Amino acid sequence: MVAKIIDGKAISEKMRAGLAKEVSNLVRHMPKPGLAVIVVGDDPASHVYVRSKAKQTIEVGMESFEYQLPASASEHQLLDLVATLNNDERVDGILVQLPLPHHINAEKVLRAIAPAKDVDGFHPLNVGLVATGSGGMVPCTPLGSMILIKSVRDNIAGLNAVIVGRSNIVGKPMAQLLLQESCTVTIAHSRTADLPAVVGAADILVAAVGRPEMVRGTWVKPGSVVIDVGINRVAAPDGKSKLVGDVAFGECLDRAAAITPVPGGVGPMTISCLLQNTLRAATARRA
Ligand code: NDP
Repeated sequence: MVAKIIDGKAISEKMRAGLAKEVSNLVRHMPKPGLAVIVVGDDPASHVYVRSKAKQTIEVGMESFEYQLPASASEHQLLDLVATLNNDERVDGILVQLPLPHHINAEKVLRAIAPAKDVDGFHPLNVGLVATGSGGMVPCTPLGSMILIKSVRDNIAGLNAVIVGRSNIVGKPMAQLLLQESCTVTIAHSRTADLPAVVGAADILVAAVGRPEMVRGTWVKPGSVVIDVGINRVAAPDGKSKLVGDVAFGECLDRAAAITPVPGGVGPMTISCLLQNTLRAATARRA
């Protein structure tokens, strides 16, 4: 079996083309939807993400508002900015780029974002709504991962889904989404006993660990769908660096039925889902 490589780049481009069309219809009778992104400090990776988000926001016809605060900014300053944006009519979505400097309580900041503008879906109200299947803003990476799963398997009810990683931003919400699709869900983490055996039972495997190529091809169930959320920068043979996922991609090609590459899999979906959430927030708030 040769695995189908799930082209997240192409799927996300198609998604953004659809969003651009919706936005152009919408702006005939309302102002452009607006996304505000706040970055604190000078983490180079954060700045790359934020630039890319701003570019794609503008490309689909939305308004992009960028706020860069110095690493020395106080928690109070950041909370003030969030409060201002909560009350800014032009802003439909607010995203605070993580990680934040250690002196700022990230949880407190995320809770300060108005739930209706919480396009990352990290506010406890949205977490609760998603967990109870009552709507709510779905976090972008799990949402994008689910779209990729559905691109290769229409009906996933009854399948065994294993998620490696239990973070609030990926692992836990991913489990909720798979449960809503009636999968039998297992969440594995650093204390899981016999991880290869747990992974080996997965018809759908989602790896969100942050450890380069930790999941080996021999662990993976033949015929499974493998979604690799991990983004890890490692040294390349030419002395430069390259990105790899949490799954040993090459080893899975003759076992999995379908697999996402890194880069070009889940990564591009995350931004498209962020724009989709922003459009959703705009239509809900201004309806
Ligand atoms: P976290 O560090 O918050 O969580 C990692 C999880 O992996 C934890 O639950 C941890 O377990 C578990 N883990 C760590 N080591 C092991 C191990 N040896 N065996 C089993 N489980 C282990 O990471 P995130 O969820 O934020 O991100 C995960 C990866 O996804 C990262 O590479 C990140 O860069 C990437 N990412 C990609 C995105 C995208 O857009 N594609 C978006 C967000 C993240 P425990 O809880 O027990 O410590």
